[in-house]
Amino acid sequence: MWQHKQGAKKEEAVKRRCHRCRGMGRAPCEICKGAGEVAKSRDIYGKPIMTRCNGCFGLKSIRCAVCGGDGFV
Ligand SMILES: [Zn+2]
Ligand SMILES: [Zn+2]
Repeated sequence: MWQHKQGAKKEEAVKRRCHRCRGMGRAPCEICKGAGEVAKSRDIYGKPIMTRCNGCFGLKSIRCAVCGGDGFV
């Protein structure tokens, strides 16, 4: 019979650097593409009115969804 304790130890050993953020733990915001702001609408001259991105709250990057900010999965 297999010992469950052994299995848990092995799981920790296979932790590897996250492929998405490359170990940074953070990834560029996909909503604003890393700009920190998005064009909400245009003014009467057709100029975009920028507003803070709701995805990253203006931080330009978000916690990596793949590794949860760990940098490792
Ligand atoms: Zn954003
Ligand atoms: Zn990651």
